[in-house]
Amino acid sequence: MQKVSIVGAGPGDPELITVKGQRLLKEADVVIYAGSLVNPRILEVCRKNAEIFNSASMTLPDVVNKIEESVKADKKVVRLHTGDPAIYGAIQEQMDEFKKRGIEYEVIPGVSSFLATAAALKQEYTLPNISQTVIVTRGAGRTPVPDRESLKSLAQHQATMCIFLSIQMLDKVVEELEAGGYPEDTPIAIVHRASWPEQKIVRATLKDVVEKVKEADIPRQAMIVVGRVLDTEYDLSRLYAPEFAHMFRQASK
Ligand code: SAH
Repeated sequence: MQKVSIVGAGPGDPELITVKGQRLLKEADVVIYAGSLVNPRILEVCRKNAEIFNSASMTLPDVVNKIEESVKADKKVVRLHTGDPAIYGAIQEQMDEFKKRGIEYEVIPGVSSFLATAAALKQEYTLPNISQTVIVTRGAGRTPVPDRESLKSLAQHQATMCIFLSIQMLDKVVEELEAGGYPEDTPIAIVHRASWPEQKIVRATLKDVVEKVKEADIPRQAMIVVGRVLDTEYDLSRLYAPEFAHMFRQASK
């Protein structure tokens, strides 16, 4: 019996999947991909006779049954998720089912979209004296978010926040961030389809972002990034300071 590989496809650009993930895709007999988000171009490396399924139209039992049947027939299976599978990938329930059914599996990480978003913005999320913390979160939707993690309460930290799955409720997101203490001049950036050819970036403040996003006509699949790192004057990192010695470099005079 083969083992299943759960693979992070990366944010969209077919060159942003890992070397290992791409090798497994090339070798796969069966690929089940999260169709609403995975760039179909990533599948171009698959073998001509590979069986390819879009999980958008499948339930959890459909997916797991298909995988079970395939590994038992000694086929190599890749379950392909967008970005990194650990972030809003709904893989835990699949892995639990694999365990129950005695199916062996491995996880290959991917470039999450919140990092592809930083690259698109040419932005470091962790600047000295501004923020040294990145919060990855989402607004509550059909999947609830525990109260203690509401955007309003997380906003109190004024850390860099990457908000997934929430562009369709941007007005509510802004309201909560402001209620949590972000001033209305706090910079915010929206990146639609980071790393895809149709990538779009909107930069704004909490005050005018709703308006600007409406004008830019940003569809779903966008990342919201908020925090002072996006505008700011900051202290230089100690890592590269000339007078700062560390394990790999002596201080210069
Ligand atoms: N596992 C994925 C996230 C899946 S949830 C990851 O690690 O990126 C889907 C959400 O991710 C979308 O609603 C959007 O907020 C974000 N997203 C996924 N791909 C994106 C991209 N290329 N650019 C911007 N946001 C993206």
